[in-house]
Amino acid sequence: VLRTVASPWTLGPLHLRNRVVMGSMHTGLEVLDDGGAALAAFYRERAAGGVGCIVTGGIAISDEARGGPDFAVFGAGGADERFRVAVEAVHEEGGAVLAQLFHAGRYALASGMVDRHGRPQRVVAPSALPWAAARGVVPTELTADEVGRTVEDFAAAARAARAIGFDGVEIMASEGYLVNQFQSPLTNLRDDEWGGDAVRRRRFAVEVVRAVRSAVPDLAVTIRLSGADLMPGSTTEDEVDALMQDLLPLGLDGISVGIGWHESRTPTVQAAVPHGAWLAYAARVARVVRASDHPEVRVIASNRMTDLRDGEAVLGDGLLDAVALARPFLADPDLVRRSLDGRFDLVNTCIGCNQACLDRSIVGAPVSCLVNPRAGRELAFPARPTTAPKRVDVVGGGPAGLAAAVDAARRGHRVTLWEADRALGGQFALAAAIPGKEDYAATVRAARAELDDRGATVHLGRAATTTDLLGSDAVVLAPGVVPRVVDLPGADLPHVMSYETALRDGVPPGTVAVVGGGGIGVDTAAFLVESPDEVVRAAAFAERWDVDVAADVIGDVPQRLPASDRSLRPGDQVTVLRRSGRFGQGVGITSRWVAVGRLRDAGVRMVGGVQEYLRIEPGALWIRDEDGLERAVPADHVVVCAGQERASGPDTDGVDGLVAALRAAGVAHEVVGGARDARSVDAVRATSEALEAVRRL
Ligand code: SF4
Repeated sequence: VLRTVASPWTLGPLHLRNRVVMGSMHTGLEVLDDGGAALAAFYRERAAGGVGCIVTGGIAISDEARGGPDFAVFGAGGADERFRVAVEAVHEEGGAVLAQLFHAGRYALASGMVDRHGRPQRVVAPSALPWAAARGVVPTELTADEVGRTVEDFAAAARAARAIGFDGVEIMASEGYLVNQFQSPLTNLRDDEWGGDAVRRRRFAVEVVRAVRSAVPDLAVTIRLSGADLMPGSTTEDEVDALMQDLLPLGLDGISVGIGWHESRTPTVQAAVPHGAWLAYAARVARVVRASDHPEVRVIASNRMTDLRDGEAVLGDGLLDAVALARPFLADPDLVRRSLDGRFDLVNTCIGCNQACLDRSIVGAPVSCLVNPRAGRELAFPARPTTAPKRVDVVGGGPAGLAAAVDAARRGHRVTLWEADRALGGQFALAAAIPGKEDYAATVRAARAELDDRGATVHLGRAATTTDLLGSDAVVLAPGVVPRVVDLPGADLPHVMSYETALRDGVPPGTVAVVGGGGIGVDTAAFLVESPDEVVRAAAFAERWDVDVAADVIGDVPQRLPASDRSLRPGDQVTVLRRSGRFGQGVGITSRWVAVGRLRDAGVRMVGGVQEYLRIEPGALWIRDEDGLERAVPADHVVVCAGQERASGPDTDGVDGLVAALRAAGVAHEVVGGARDARSVDAVRATSEALEAVRRL
């Protein structure tokens, strides 16, 4: 099926086995003082899973190039030795690996960071313009001499990469990092040989590419170029084209097309961004390259792709050479092998939540994955089969239960999964109805396919009883959560429903009041007001953000068809109400502003500071507002999103009864996820607990 994706190609001197690149991801493993073991295990699994080429997370070319304290620096602190081990692991699995040459510039989060002499870390940039997230750290403007030395640092780093054994290097010149900062009139206010007009602003990128190319003539050299900065007043399309015209004669082997700056207010990688949204920018770069005197330079598309069938659609016409995916390799290290085998049903799909990856990376915490809690912990939780297979029963088929069941089955245990509902997925099955979250269904589908493949028994519509479980060697209890019911006069009226009912069955036409504006309330409102059709949403996205959205892949993949029908009429007012805290509280830092912003764009009324919910009547929800006044919120329907509570569990005595019975019978057991603590439940914690529980059993 994936004829083009599967075809070998060359990238400069490299012969690569397929056209899938694992894009650069900063994991935090790069600085672990373990001789490179964890990093090697992480990369080895992805290379063994068939990816053609891996690009490392950014490796700083000097101390002051680091993005934060958890960035490795070439030649410092044992980084070269660690990467040598990682590179060898990739090579042993038949893959190739490029080192990303990185300089954060003003994007360094230097708070608490010291240089190798113990002094506070200097942050440098083309001009002394701080980044809001840098907590007041104003970068030092590089002198002209220092700019020249920074160019040399890039070349020295490339030589170091070669000595380590890397197959090539990728120069990071996108996403608003230093090279990109030099190019943009927003961040380069200089008036010397490195700035002052567009030609001089491009000079830094040109000199870096020239220096790196001549430093490593026998390696693949690529650049990660910004297809569009998505920053008002930044580099124009014509200037991007002009930069390419400058760079192409310098012997580049490839261009990987990035999009947006970290401080851009246009969403780029959140779940609400349509699949393949940024391909038009890669295609534009490719057209410039093909029309140039160097049409052989490879162009690699990236961002917001989760499925290699999309990759096939993208590469099919030959304009682009390869696709780079990043987060999907956290979700499934076997993404390539499974896809090339035609087993798309087995691919554990990245759901674009950012909760265990980007949201952690930006605060310097170790990166993992919500749907694959082993990600980044391959060494601690090895994949090898158990030597003592057991009967393992898992109670609950939500995210935590599925994570437990899949890991136990992979390790060779005899797994039985019990789900009281008629379908698997729990909260994920509900989330899949929310526009942009359709991939939640794909990860559930993948878990089911893997359990079936590995001979696990799955009982649906069947709550496990104590009797069912007494013969087990080990039980994981993950019955999950149920919507919290509000105690309010009128809460039992027929037009009042839980978010579960709303997402499952839809909401009839009319005005809607959503009680609770946390993550679920915000998602439920999006469900009410946004089209389930990704093609329609993509057009709206393009218009809202004034960007080009390619139609190539959107809506191609059947799993993205609308999960449920909605019948809200255009113009039906939706009001989201919240007592205290911010709307979307609980949604991760990189996604909350998008989740809330899309509601404001859609005309959803957001009413915060509600002092009290008073009563529900036909047609209205009565509240005491922030001024203490009683007021009616129009509501033909009321959807309650007031948090969650522990599911009562599979037995008449609930989880606690089951635990007592298992304890009395001496059956090993663990309670995980929302059943352990519904108040602070978060899916990352739940799946992680599930994995850890299985490994303890
Ligand atoms: Fe994808 Fe979420 Fe996993 Fe990040 S944590 S890789 S966004 S599924």
